[in-house]
Amino acid sequence: MNLARFPRIRLGHLPTPLEPMEALSRHLGGPKLWIKRDDCTGLSTGGNKTRKLEFLMAEALGLKADIVITQGATQSNHARQTAAAAAKLGLECLILLEDRTGYADPAYRMSGNVLMDKLHGAQVSRRPGGADMQAEMEAVAANLTARGRRPYVIPGGGSNPVGALGYVNAALELVAQAAEIGLRIDHLVHATGSAGTQAGLVAGLVALNSGIPVLGIGVRAPKPRQEANVLALAERTAAHLGLPGLIRPEHVVANCDYVGQGYGIPTQGMVEAVRLVAEKEGILLDPVYSGKGMAGLIDLIGQGRFGKEENIVFLHTGGQAGLFGYPEAFGLPPELG
Ligand SMILES: *Cc1c(COP(=O)(O)O)cnc(C)c1O
Repeated sequence: MNLARFPRIRLGHLPTPLEPMEALSRHLGGPKLWIKRDDCTGLSTGGNKTRKLEFLMAEALGLKADIVITQGATQSNHARQTAAAAAKLGLECLILLEDRTGYADPAYRMSGNVLMDKLHGAQVSRRPGGADMQAEMEAVAANLTARGRRPYVIPGGGSNPVGALGYVNAALELVAQAAEIGLRIDHLVHATGSAGTQAGLVAGLVALNSGIPVLGIGVRAPKPRQEANVLALAERTAAHLGLPGLIRPEHVVANCDYVGQGYGIPTQGMVEAVRLVAEKEGILLDPVYSGKGMAGLIDLIGQGRFGKEENIVFLHTGGQAGLFGYPEAFGLPPELG
């Protein structure tokens, strides 16, 4: 496997740190918790999409695109990082935001990631919840092409085999870091949504024969659909790497018990996990992804699913900007969360 074969533009501050969470581990009574700080990728407050955009934006430039189009929910971290990357590279950026939650709170609609999209000069256009966002993007792109522009369409979350290479790269980085400090990683846990992060990690970790199992904590789809999405993309990513047939269904595991009422809708477990990690580790998680991911990890630890001496790495995928879109969630009494 040789990632240097694929066009890439450096956008992130890499490698990101791999750090122990001693206070949180002690508080929970084991296992040994570590955190891989992909919230520190640096681009416009960071997050996991930056790694994907290193490969996606390189492809856009290779195709001589002059505008990138992408889509996400109102508080999309992917949209914000895409807007920043486009700004840095001198490309125009058009973002379609889907109103998946229906929240009317002006903070949700205007602050956090939406504020930053606009600061980076992106054009923002809203769509109702349930819209076929891929079709919406294609319609906009066809319109631009007819007017002589060269649009490059990035799927939601940057999740296709090109974007997933960013998480193949993260797998290489993590395995090398762990080897350097003599850390045997027993499990890697993270929040999974549009599937590119888990697909890239699984493809990379299996290609390396690392023996590190990945557990995705779902934030939207039910388990069968989430696992099917990740598996399909992991297979395509492996094929893109020149390793067709590498991935088997048992390599892909998602737990979707922590979604709550739906994508982007706060849960009590999320609020408690965000508060706990903020108070014990001085680290901010986010309300839509890493907070629910950590809520799942904490609950599974409580159920005794991990050995006390095991080393668990939680991949922090970023998203803190979204906290500013959810001021109410953290002020509500827990029973309403
Ligand atoms: C997009 C995102 C995820 C999920 O990654 P996918 O590749 O879409 O599965 C997790 N955490 C944060 C903060 C994100 O923005």
